[in-house]
Amino acid sequence: MTAVLDEKLEPIFQDVLRRNPGETEFHRAVHEVLESLGPVLVKYPEFAEKKIIQRICEPERQIIFRVPWQDDKGEIHINRAFRVEFNSALGPYKGGMRFHPSVYLGIIKFLGFEQIFKNALTGLPIGGGKGGSDFDPKGKSDAEIERFCQSLMLELYRHLGEYTDVPAGDIGVGSREIGYLYGQYKRITNRYESGVFTGKGLGWGGSRARTEATGYGTVFFTEEMLKARGDALEGKKVVVSGSGNVAIYAVEKAHELGATVIACSDSGGFIVDEQGINLETLKRIKEVERRRISAYAETHRHARYIAGAESTSIWSVPCDIALPCATQNELTGRDAKTLVENGCIAVAEGANMPTTPDGIRIFQDAGVCFGPGKAANAGGVATSALEMQQNASRDSWTFEYTQKRLQEIMVNIHRNCHETAAEFGTEGDYVLGANITGFIRVAKAMNAMGLI
Ligand code: GLU
Repeated sequence: MTAVLDEKLEPIFQDVLRRNPGETEFHRAVHEVLESLGPVLVKYPEFAEKKIIQRICEPERQIIFRVPWQDDKGEIHINRAFRVEFNSALGPYKGGMRFHPSVYLGIIKFLGFEQIFKNALTGLPIGGGKGGSDFDPKGKSDAEIERFCQSLMLELYRHLGEYTDVPAGDIGVGSREIGYLYGQYKRITNRYESGVFTGKGLGWGGSRARTEATGYGTVFFTEEMLKARGDALEGKKVVVSGSGNVAIYAVEKAHELGATVIACSDSGGFIVDEQGINLETLKRIKEVERRRISAYAETHRHARYIAGAESTSIWSVPCDIALPCATQNELTGRDAKTLVENGCIAVAEGANMPTTPDGIRIFQDAGVCFGPGKAANAGGVATSALEMQQNASRDSWTFEYTQKRLQEIMVNIHRNCHETAAEFGTEGDYVLGANITGFIRVAKAMNAMGLI
């Protein structure tokens, strides 16, 4: 957070620091947006007068609660769960639930804050929220996951509703967890309210292409950034970090568009397969067997597995395009420098805030196309909004149609970010473009609705 803020914005940021002590991820997310807003206040002085920014930085509502549950041996565990209902100017609170031991209020607030602008960028009627728990799903049995989800929902249900707050998945929350959470909601409320959750199974209200949407969307966005420079994905070497839902479908779409993904990772290390990551193997290991990525080398002997992501990073693998799809702060300034030295031309964030601020600066200074998560990974939540549309009309669309809608949304997001960046500052600065486009949409709606 070294970039200097506009003199009107610095006191707002100091206030955020003072009122939210210790929440470093949240501080960073706020700072990154405020860095872009100087020129917006010049064009729209009413936003300053009405203290729109100060209001946006304060969640509308924050819920923190205890989740007690019993493991298979009968031992009792206590976890903490959160739902931060950040902003509902454009629609019901919308955003995923994250289950990971690192989760605390600062992480949920950073994610919720990002979600406000990301959701606004989609152009669809969704506000911003986020939730989660410090529960660690790793190594838990199915029955333990089910009991935990049911216990969590016994409190959370009262805060949800298809017009109020609509959760979905995130790290550690996939279709299995959504099934348990949604089932318990249905049971407690005695309502078949499909639109209260997204990421549901295809047989019970889910949308086709939702599973694929975040990864696909990130690749569509990358293709648009390259097109804007007269280039394309075809023939490019790509490195994708992570091996969860976002990463898997980023690999799939990159391959479909003629690129070769040569590396991916998990928290234990990474694999390099110069022939191109075999998707069938990756899906089997991660989605069916739920094993570590090191197992990939058992099936593909020519692939290399490098353990200990801390000492050698996946970003040391030379590539044209880098897609960080794992988690926050996974791509540092040092990694960015290595990527630039190795000739990387484009980076798009499939994860939320994976690149550190000095990393972003290094890419931008070197003229690397950089697509921030708010824009590049908005395809997931956009398709969630499409799932809500299908639920509201009791309809179910084909895969082709849904994917077409997703692609149109990503093309629009890219165009809006590109045009806004050119209007307010620097051509090709997608960080600026995304922050300003998203902010203006929310701020205009808040302004119109009075002091709420
Ligand atoms: N967790 C995803 C995100 O970061 C998806 C949220 C949703 O579909 O509501 O955008």
